[in-house]
Amino acid sequence: MSDSLLVIEDVHKSYAPALVALRGVSLAVVRGEIVCLLGPSGCGKTTLLRIVAGLELPDSGRLLFAGRDLAAVPVYQRGFGLMFQEFALFPDKSVAQNVAFGLRMAGWSAAEIGKRVDEMLALVNLGGYGGRSIFDLSGGERQRVALARSLAPSPALLMLDEPLGSLDRALRESLMDELRTLLKRLALTALYVTHDQQEALSVADRVVLMNEGRIVQQGPPQVLYDTPANAFVARFLGYANVLPVASVGRADGMVFVQTALSVRPLPVPSSEPLPAQPLVIVVRATAMLLGDDAGRAALQGAPLLEGVITKLGFRGGHQRAEIAVSHTATPMDLTFEAPLTTPLVEGAPITFALDPAGCMLLPA
Ligand code: ADP
Ligand code: MG
Repeated sequence: MSDSLLVIEDVHKSYAPALVALRGVSLAVVRGEIVCLLGPSGCGKTTLLRIVAGLELPDSGRLLFAGRDLAAVPVYQRGFGLMFQEFALFPDKSVAQNVAFGLRMAGWSAAEIGKRVDEMLALVNLGGYGGRSIFDLSGGERQRVALARSLAPSPALLMLDEPLGSLDRALRESLMDELRTLLKRLALTALYVTHDQQEALSVADRVVLMNEGRIVQQGPPQVLYDTPANAFVARFLGYANVLPVASVGRADGMVFVQTALSVRPLPVPSSEPLPAQPLVIVVRATAMLLGDDAGRAALQGAPLLEGVITKLGFRGGHQRAEIAVSHTATPMDLTFEAPLTTPLVEGAPITFALDPAGCMLLPA
């Protein structure tokens, strides 16, 4: 805790008695760390950022920055950089004037400002753009200018709220890697808000997943992805196959899980102790076994499943197959990824098994 730069302690915030935005959020951010607040729309991400910025007051709880209580520190004295939608670029000012904004407010001299603006524009790969009008920039270039503007005064903490939210996916993907590289190069401490799981997993040192005003799970991207704490986390991180579990039993060092997929239960790796009921089983997209692999799994107790490939899509390096499982009382769909070399045909029947190692048993 002692090396934490920002400490958020049990923050509560309601906008009205029935409009609770934060239900006790505690979080510590270490110097130089990029923390991504991730969660569905309305879960309280922006509210938390606005409270840290000083634009909103918490109902209760405490904020410390470098050991100092922020309660008595007004927005402009906090020294934080904000890249929020509401602080859009000034459309009638040039690129350089936009980047200079915070420096002028801080009383820098014209010579210092000129030098710093050039540095910042070079940093975001917009060297030579200073004289341009905001109107003449693409969406991606505007976001870079906004970033340069928030970085120029060397903020002690940078806060970004959906900074790439207005851009199309391809541009977002190239900018999110660039952004992470830049933040790490500057050794900035950053709180980064997004509702896009891929963006959070790409940018963050640590992902903090929120739902309904609370932190549900936090950890390094890989840890969160590999070991989601419950069904909500798994679904939010993009796992497509999350199935209710009817009952669970143990035999021969394996756990057997009864689902609506098959009469015979599915074997999954033994986890001790079993999570509390009710449970779901998460089947990874890579867990589909075909042909001899399915046969081997069947010999070890896995049921063979029958279905029809309802949809087959090309996804760059692999193909994505949607399978409607036959023989289930209610229709059930599973989604898998397979190498391009696997001969799959849309509309064709398919027999497969599930790789136990690709299944996770989680609290619902
Ligand atoms: P997020 O950024 O995760 O989408 P917000 O922090 O904006 O979530 O909102 C959290 C909850 O608080 C939502 O239910 C939202 O409708 C509500 N809310 C946010 N800002 C206000 C406001 N100024 N007045 C009333 N309700 C608000
Ligand atoms: Mg928001």
